[in-house]
Amino acid sequence: MGFCETDAQPDEGLASPGAMPFQRNIVRLPIGIGMSHIAEPSHGGGIISGMATVSVTSSNDSPTFDVAVLGAGPGGYVAAIRAAQIGLKVALIERDQLGGICLNWGCIPTKVLLRNAEIVELIKDGEAYGISYDNLRVDYARAYKRSREVSNRLVKGVEFLMKKNDVKVFIGEGTITGPHSILVEHRSEERTITANNLVVATGARPLVLPFLKPDGVRVFTYRQLLEVQHAPRSMVVIGSGAIGMEFAYVFHAYGTEVTVLEALPRIMPLEDEEISAEITRSFNRRGIKTVAGAKVTDAKIGPDGVEVFFESDKGKQSIKAEWVLVAVSVTPNTAGIGLDKVGVKVNSAGYVEVDDHMATNVPSIYAIGDVTGKLRLAHVAQAQGVVAAESIAASMGKYHGHIPQLDYDAMPRCTYTVPQVASMGLSESQAKERGYEVKVGKFPLRANGKSLALNNTEGFIKVVADAKYGEILGVHCIGPDVTELLPEFVLAKNAELTPEEIARAVHAHPTLSESLMEAAESVEGLAIHI
Ligand SMILES: Cc1cc2nc3c(=O)[nH]c(=O)nc-3n(C[C@H](O)[C@H](O)[C@H](O)COP(=O)(O)OP(=O)(O)OC[C@H]3O[C@@H](n4cnc5c(N)ncnc54)[C@H](O)[C@@H]3O)c2cc1C
Repeated sequence: MGFCETDAQPDEGLASPGAMPFQRNIVRLPIGIGMSHIAEPSHGGGIISGMATVSVTSSNDSPTFDVAVLGAGPGGYVAAIRAAQIGLKVALIERDQLGGICLNWGCIPTKVLLRNAEIVELIKDGEAYGISYDNLRVDYARAYKRSREVSNRLVKGVEFLMKKNDVKVFIGEGTITGPHSILVEHRSEERTITANNLVVATGARPLVLPFLKPDGVRVFTYRQLLEVQHAPRSMVVIGSGAIGMEFAYVFHAYGTEVTVLEALPRIMPLEDEEISAEITRSFNRRGIKTVAGAKVTDAKIGPDGVEVFFESDKGKQSIKAEWVLVAVSVTPNTAGIGLDKVGVKVNSAGYVEVDDHMATNVPSIYAIGDVTGKLRLAHVAQAQGVVAAESIAASMGKYHGHIPQLDYDAMPRCTYTVPQVASMGLSESQAKERGYEVKVGKFPLRANGKSLALNNTEGFIKVVADAKYGEILGVHCIGPDVTELLPEFVLAKNAELTPEEIARAVHAHPTLSESLMEAAESVEGLAIHI
């Protein structure tokens, strides 16, 4: 299967005009005219809204800023805030909306849609709770609207934070022109921002298949799918990573007949084998079809839908659907931003090479988030942003605190379907491949009182530990709210606790968290309730 980069422009959405009701809140001011807007604190939820400051104070002769951050996603805006907290003078350059993919077209809107879908499913299953109805009507447009409302609210919160921290925001397309300079273009205006250090935080965009060019009508990227206002009759999802699985769950809940095609031999191939088997069973039980080992080879787009051709161990097959979501992977936004001109090294896939301080090979240039390709998740980008900001400040003699080395094996990875999937570190087979002698503890949620009370007993907690020293090597959870449970193990791993120490901590009854304790006990064969 060949990949090509999408030629989608940052503002690209649905093909049809007028299908983009989402209006931007930030006012695009011509660069070169210094202006500011007063933040208006909103009330409730701790989120405060306000207009971002767009001002220009730089001279082209000497670096005006200590740091200029290119890209205002979760990596970039967090790096900007941390640097400003330390006392550095910070510029943040963004061509689109503050908050990046995460707040606008990723983590946040999908979680809103998932919540709506979960409620729809609960109501459909109302009989179990004594709820009946004659004619259930669900409105996907309302889910869409709520997703935009929540995204907008958070974007405004980031705009306010920039103002609060005195980060100067420049709206426009940024290109690195030297080790200390970024050219910002907005409409016909140009401005060079100069800084002692640059942070590249330009994120990533969807990979597309050469024979399935996204048109926002039949073939969709995640970005385009987040702008639709109704559910199709049928949909093929290509790729069973978190993004593909989350959309599959959402649209199935709204009545779409969904088939997930995965090229690798199992669904959610990056998860532990037992998680793959459980989520496959769960999706199939719900009526979501999954085909693993299905290599998509071609597609035919017609007036009524798309025929997707694939090869599996059953030979050549095809499936027709009204819509197709291509969720195969992403590609970094590193081409055309001037990295080559200043000699920043990127690997063969285009990701920027960085050291533990997020420094590139060019001394004044750092990179964080999806462009580094380490673990393409928002909280990873944020953690890297903090490290980059502190490392820059330390290099300028302005920060003397401890800068931790990031441990990617201790970072949570979550998928917010029902059941949820949450994992950290090595799968059982990866741990064995790395030469560990492992002990595995497992606790099924059907033996947990709170799961039964919730009427949601799918799943389990699995702990992979080093048999010799008890080090936690990996944790793999599937079930209700496990994304909220996993952080206990993240903290435990960071604090170098053993399963026995987790098991000795008393957990409240009845809670889902008891299943963590029991899984930890089960590493030594001492779980009480199984
Ligand atoms: C559908 C979906 C769901 C997701 N769900 C989750 C989730 O639940 N949890 C999770 O942890 N992660 C999730 N992710 C991944 C997460 O969104 C990314 O890992 C995260 O946004 C990366 O942050 P970043 O700061 O590196 O880049 P981005 O968020 O991509 O931000 C980069 C910013 O740089 C700007 N930019 C790029 N080039 C330029 C330029 N030349 N000039 C000016 N600005 C530029 C872009 O406009 C963008 O705003 C999801 C992703 C998708 C697509």
